[in-house]
Amino acid sequence: MATDTSDPIPPHKTFDTILVLDFGSQYSHLITRRLREHNVYCEMLPCTQKLSELSWKPKGVILSGGPYSVYWDDAPHVDPAVFDLNVPILGICYGLQEIAWHFGKNVHAGEKREYGHAYLKIEKQRDGHVDRLFKGLEDDVEVWMSHGDKLSNMPEDFAITATTANAPFAGIAHKQKMLYGIQFHPEVTHTPKGRVLLRNFAVDICQCKTDWTMGKFVDQEIARIRALVGDKGQVIGAVSGGVDSTVAAKLMQEAIGERFHAVLVDNGVLRLNEAKQVKETLTKGLGINLTVVDASDRFLGRLKGVTDDPEKKRKIIGNTFIEVFQETAKKIAADAAGSSRAGEIEWLLQGTLYPDVIESISFKGPSATIKTHHNVGGLLEGMHLKLIEPLRELFKDEVRELGTNLGIPEDLVWRHPFPGPGIAIRILGEVTPEQVRIAREADYIFIEEIKAAGLYRKISQAFAALLPVKAVGVMGDKRVHDQVIALRAVETSDFMTADWYPFDGDFLKKVSRRIVNEVEGVCRVVYDITSKPPGTIEME
Ligand code: GLN
Repeated sequence: MATDTSDPIPPHKTFDTILVLDFGSQYSHLITRRLREHNVYCEMLPCTQKLSELSWKPKGVILSGGPYSVYWDDAPHVDPAVFDLNVPILGICYGLQEIAWHFGKNVHAGEKREYGHAYLKIEKQRDGHVDRLFKGLEDDVEVWMSHGDKLSNMPEDFAITATTANAPFAGIAHKQKMLYGIQFHPEVTHTPKGRVLLRNFAVDICQCKTDWTMGKFVDQEIARIRALVGDKGQVIGAVSGGVDSTVAAKLMQEAIGERFHAVLVDNGVLRLNEAKQVKETLTKGLGINLTVVDASDRFLGRLKGVTDDPEKKRKIIGNTFIEVFQETAKKIAADAAGSSRAGEIEWLLQGTLYPDVIESISFKGPSATIKTHHNVGGLLEGMHLKLIEPLRELFKDEVRELGTNLGIPEDLVWRHPFPGPGIAIRILGEVTPEQVRIAREADYIFIEEIKAAGLYRKISQAFAALLPVKAVGVMGDKRVHDQVIALRAVETSDFMTADWYPFDGDFLKKVSRRIVNEVEGVCRVVYDITSKPPGTIEME
């Protein structure tokens, strides 16, 4: 957990930090996101967090929205000690109602729900204190509302700071203390000036420094890793050639050099030339201590004859991976123990990102138990490794920025995601060495053309899949009966929903011509025009 006291230098001890207490709104993580965009560090914890168990003091607290009504018997409430922290507090939607409830129990169900756009009228206050939140905003700015409850009257010592046609209490503030509430959601893009408001809160009102930059994070994180691992400890971790594992590995290398052992398992279903390329980049380019294990035969041997269930492929690949990684880890550990570098391997590197952490700590309801995030549960049997997760505070775009900062090549930093089971799940039907060759070559051409057309960064994920059917074609006057390649390319911001990319005809023509001409065994190319949902991004 973020409050772990065994962590020697957590970011909230180095950076001014805003604490977001999550009441279960679907937008809570966006509050964090927006503040980070202003270079203010921000952490989210469930609304049930006891302040006495918090080992650090935030510069300000934000109470998020949530699906409950504050007057319900089982409604979640913030630890009242938050009001004695003596730091500014901003309540958003449910958060505003929570503040009002705390100070006067004066919230009830409105006659109708208010959902959608509204226009704010800002109440200018003569003493200039309570409306600081709205600095730089004009009357009639657009805000986004999503609530059914409302305040019946003002709690004592509070003033109205903003109204809308439907909401007489769209903004409230305490007349002396730095307590603010807003009924609308500043964190969503439907509130275009919401960013200004959040900045006003964090920077002007809470006085947070805007020093959360990846440059500064690198120094802080390297110091943290060194303090954690000590001068003898060793760390092992798997790398895949993807951006997360590469950035995590580079950070480890900067922190502890050779005492970090990266392992790349070649499962035989990586992209064309991938194992070789990753080795080049990680060792020669980035100086990482890397062991490459070629286990393709073991993987392909086990995949032989598996045609029915895609889940089976995933399981075989997952289990074989753990097996190979474990064997390698034991070997590396034995070598390391015997060498003069001494120190045992005690740590396992994991590329966990902040969205996974948020997922595990976000508030799921008054009765839901918060699931703990750490679960190494015997991944490396018998080795009793502790987890080290240097990216656990970062969002994906921060990881990319960090990667650039660490000198990782651009094309790796901006790489499309690649599934763990590799192209095995892009070969529909049986995975044989011949099918792997065809899928790999077609994929290589497709990606090469996407890059040449300058489209790689516009597209979120693209690949060629091999369909388990044959079609008739005529090549060089000869009738052929060969396989079909399906191209897939999607645009998405979060991978939850996605749409296929609208290539122009000339581009598709060129790719299709090249694949049919250059990849032996293919006589047709089709383009997948299914969005997600109902399709998935991968085909199996
Ligand atoms: N349940 C509360 C309401 O409907 C809060 C909603 C919210 O936070 N979005 O007013």
